Amino acid sequence: MRRSLRQLGAADLSGRRVLVRVDYNVPLEDGHVRDSTRLVASYPTLDYLRERRARPVLLSHLGRPDGVPDPRYSLQPVAHALAEQGGYEVRFAAPADSEAALGASSDLREGEILLLENTRFLPGETENDEALSQRFARLGDLFVNDAFGTTHRAHASTVGVARWLKPAVAGLLIERELAALDRLRGATRSPFVVALGGAKIGDKIGLLEQFVSRADRILVGGAMANTFLAARGINMADSLIEGAALDTAASLLRRAGGRIELPVDLIVSPGPDAEGEARTVDVESVPPGTMALDIGPETARRYRGAVLDASTLFWNGPMGLFEKETFAAGTDALVAAAAEATVRGAFTVIGGGDSAAAVTRAGLADSVSHVSTGGGAALEYLVEGSLPGIEALDEA
Ligand code: ADP
Ligand code: MG
Repeated sequence: MRRSLRQLGAADLSGRRVLVRVDYNVPLEDGHVRDSTRLVASYPTLDYLRERRARPVLLSHLGRPDGVPDPRYSLQPVAHALAEQGGYEVRFAAPADSEAALGASSDLREGEILLLENTRFLPGETENDEALSQRFARLGDLFVNDAFGTTHRAHASTVGVARWLKPAVAGLLIERELAALDRLRGATRSPFVVALGGAKIGDKIGLLEQFVSRADRILVGGAMANTFLAARGINMADSLIEGAALDTAASLLRRAGGRIELPVDLIVSPGPDAEGEARTVDVESVPPGTMALDIGPETARRYRGAVLDASTLFWNGPMGLFEKETFAAGTDALVAAAAEATVRGAFTVIGGGDSAAAVTRAGLADSVSHVSTGGGAALEYLVEGSLPGIEALDEA
């Protein structure tokens, strides 16, 4: 176990500058924050610090500006959103490693929050550069990592800084994420149902390997199902298939002994934009010139039944190209089933950027046990049981 913010005493926090690594890698649109889920996820830690009269200094990255300042990736809109939506008194300083930032951190008054400009404007951030880590470390009297979505990266503001600034502890968001994921890694209540979809099998092989031996049922949908179906010798016409993963898919199917369930019907269409031509077909009869873009209604009905029977559910990756209404029915059915299973007492966790977006879109984010804010980080933790950004923190 790693030390958490909650284990620090009042004297550790009162009046102190607390350097907090948050994950404000949010989508921007016309200079505004389009989805503030990640901001809201940081409020418990910010409020906890302010109630204890600490002075929070926030570091975050946004996008991939590659070590050079780029106004398109400025955190200025985030500072506005924190003030307007969060009601915080926010100061903003750039760049994050400058004398100006250091001055702003010393001048920060109780009740205020300082947000520093995008850490990825600085060369050395993604290389976990030691000198940059030390400059970050000067900005606070202690370090709190609460950027769960970035904990699988060893960067200067997530890993390097924790070596030079002590105590270095986990924030409340990370604490909550790990508690949910630890429950999935430990002895889970049966039936343990795993639903996997989305686009990239390659990235999720480790996860599949782990669950093939632990889950009672693995429901596969989305483009991932295409690859499994193709590995079974089924003609998938123009569907998105990961050729490099075909052998692995075949080997997983052999080892899973029926625990991997594949679609029995599909929604196909000549392409993602040909929504008017979408139709339901049997899995054995995908017509030439079409691609599978969602699970079919019979598959959705079966998967829904499996989810309702679950005592434990982990779901990653949408069941279809859910960004388009025509291909969202399978994903929406699973979201609804997950919420119902939760009411019946199941422990339900949904992880992955797109999957989380699907739950939020359905307005059901509060109706499941946990929605993980970190896609890659959550998957890596489930497989490895550790993350570089967590390992860098103090032992409890
Ligand atoms: P997550 O972010 O939840 O981990 P992924 O990033 O792996 O999920 O996959 C999400 C993407 O997969 C979405 O953009 C979705 O449109 C796409 N997708 C799902 N099913 C299909 C399909 N059958 N064909 C093409 N794309 C699909
Ligand atoms: Mg994704």
